[in-house]
Amino acid sequence: MKDNGVDRMNRDIKKLADIIKNSNNMVVMTGAGMDTESNIPDFRSKDGLWYKVDPAKVATVEALHENYPLFHEFYSARIKNMDSITPHEGHYVLAELEEKGYITSLATQNISGLHAMAGSQNVYELHGNIKEIRCNECNTGHSIEEFLNMKTCNNCGENALRPDIVLFGEMLPTITWQKAIRDVENSDVLVVIGTSLQVYPVNQFPYMTRGKTIYINMEQIRGYNFDIEIIGKAGEVLTELKEILL
Ligand code: NAD
Repeated sequence: MKDNGVDRMNRDIKKLADIIKNSNNMVVMTGAGMDTESNIPDFRSKDGLWYKVDPAKVATVEALHENYPLFHEFYSARIKNMDSITPHEGHYVLAELEEKGYITSLATQNISGLHAMAGSQNVYELHGNIKEIRCNECNTGHSIEEFLNMKTCNNCGENALRPDIVLFGEMLPTITWQKAIRDVENSDVLVVIGTSLQVYPVNQFPYMTRGKTIYINMEQIRGYNFDIEIIGKAGEVLTELKEILL
């Protein structure tokens, strides 16, 4: 009998369940594709955020300094959009796998905070969190309302407020990054979910583990050699995985 895409996907999810059962140290890494089923657009798909807007113009240190109105408008819209956003089944499955001892830690490129909202404990937010606001100069924390109302920092003077996220051109938070690398290097399984792996340095993770590598994404990827590639929606694949595993 001919093997179709669905059969192959189910077979690969079963393989993944077996790998997980035999693993002692699994690390998960997620990208924007993890959140699209919660209605947060990703960056590079054709419905994505950057399909019409050039990231080089908005999510950058230059935009923050040289075109604050554009920067502010873009991030205000994204923050307001977060009000109606909740985790989907896939986020809850990952939290449950951690609770059952299958996941050591989860490193995410997402700035949505949805993993923590779903109950994941050991989360490395490599690109920060959009709902945390700080002064761009002195780092003093401020409220979302202050940012939305275009207030300036009331601690150090008149400096601009911004979400505590990593913009293009900025370093990743050092301690969080080092902890994530340590976990990936020690992992015996690395599951990468919903990312095009185009953003450096996070896209180096698959090369840093000596364990098995698994890729769950809507589209195939070039330039990597994953042990298993499951092409499908994160929420659906993880729900299926939970049914087999738990
Ligand atoms: P990306 O847009 O480059 O890639 C997302 C990938 O996910 C694509 O390959 C797409 O095919 C896939 N995808 C989309 N929906 C999916 C689904 N339901 N299930 C499985 N796969 C799906 O995003 P990236 O690689 O994460 O890019 C990194 C940058 O995106 C980071 O800087 C990150 O901070 C930022 N970002 C974050 C969010 C968020 O917090 N949710 C949203 C947009 C962008």
